[in-house]
Amino acid sequence: MAAVTASALTAQLRKLREETISQGPQKIEPNRKDATTIGVSDEDEQALSEMLQTLASQQNRKQSELLAQIDRALARLEREPDMVGLCEECEEEIDERRLTLRPYVTLCAECQAAHDPKRGHTRKSLTDYK
Ligand SMILES: [Zn+2]
Repeated sequence: MAAVTASALTAQLRKLREETISQGPQKIEPNRKDATTIGVSDEDEQALSEMLQTLASQQNRKQSELLAQIDRALARLEREPDMVGLCEECEEEIDERRLTLRPYVTLCAECQAAHDPKRGHTRKSLTDYK
């Protein structure tokens, strides 16, 4: 019995989506002058500015990946509302705590691990030794 309903999960996803969007893309401010850059050489400042830009773009990428996942989950809910809370691959129930934490997941922990190349490999070799 899935305790999660399609409408509840959709509402949760929409909220998360709005929150993610409202955080907006990280502003990249090259060569900003503030407490962190006072007293550092131009070279250090350049390095710091590059680091900040890298961090910002990493964060932006994570954010757009998350949004893509949310959209995908929302589309799936609309397409197959009966499949709410069920794994896209094995159709087993996804752990409820997992869904509460990440309402955008569409795979159970096991299938997800199989998709994760590193962990999937570990699982495979563990089975091989049995
Ligand atoms: Zn599964």
